[in-house]
Amino acid sequence: MSHLSWKIGDVRITRFSERETLTKLTMLLPEATPEAIAPHASWLSPHFLESDGKAILSIHALLIESQGQRILVDTCMGEKVVKGFEMLGDGTSTVIDDMAAAGFAREQIDLVLCTHLHLDHVGWNTMRQGERWVPTFPNARYLFARTEWEYWQKEKHLPFVATLDDTVKPVLDAGLADLIETDHKINDEIWLEATPGHTPGHVSVQIRSRGERAMITGDMTHHPIQWAEPQWKMFADTDAEQATRTRCRLIEEHANTPLLVIGTHYPPPCAGHLVRDEDGCRFEATEGAAS
Ligand SMILES: [Zn+2]
Repeated sequence: MSHLSWKIGDVRITRFSERETLTKLTMLLPEATPEAIAPHASWLSPHFLESDGKAILSIHALLIESQGQRILVDTCMGEKVVKGFEMLGDGTSTVIDDMAAAGFAREQIDLVLCTHLHLDHVGWNTMRQGERWVPTFPNARYLFARTEWEYWQKEKHLPFVATLDDTVKPVLDAGLADLIETDHKINDEIWLEATPGHTPGHVSVQIRSRGERAMITGDMTHHPIQWAEPQWKMFADTDAEQATRTRCRLIEEHANTPLLVIGTHYPPPCAGHLVRDEDGCRFEATEGAAS
């Protein structure tokens, strides 16, 4: 099985796909009606727009290899099936087996990092053992933003964090979690950046090696259209105006630069560059290598 991968200087990033679902974009972004998307169709097609205003939502984990560390960014839905979210996961995820087959056994993962704590980013944090959920990566430290954890402790009743007690709490109970600041530095090549709005403690992952740059978005965007229409909210945003400010800031910083943007929910080729001209900003897809 081949997996998309990217080289950023000495850093390698490999994508492990869990699920690709064809969905009406308005299910995610209420403002993304066919009429509103039409002006962008030329650059969205063929990867990011299907017929009838539908697009593919990908759920995948990204494994970063950097300075001898194996860092897993977001852990998909995993084995969890959550009422009302069956479209995102039916419990048949093969991500852990696929990683092992590619040479990344779960015992060999050093760090697990969740961009935020919504249920499609924390699933494989734990695996089923009898009646219990236990940490999937026994030799890893798990990094959760402190503000994110504290916020969802107060808002546990919301459906987007329905699995928190099964996916995050067992990791804390096992003593494998570090509650970190949102600008946490992992090493000379990898650091986090606060990108709040979708959730309060949301982080994106920044990568720099040998002068090359990349960013893993997390859910500060769900679809490349949000680079052209940064004011379009996602239905689950905690603070949609803050999310818009975050996207506008990133466009200011990174449009027309060599930074490779790797989308956490973008379907293949998943990655590209922000290009801005007199018509506004758009996302120009770049083919990754299959490994
Ligand atoms: Zn998500």
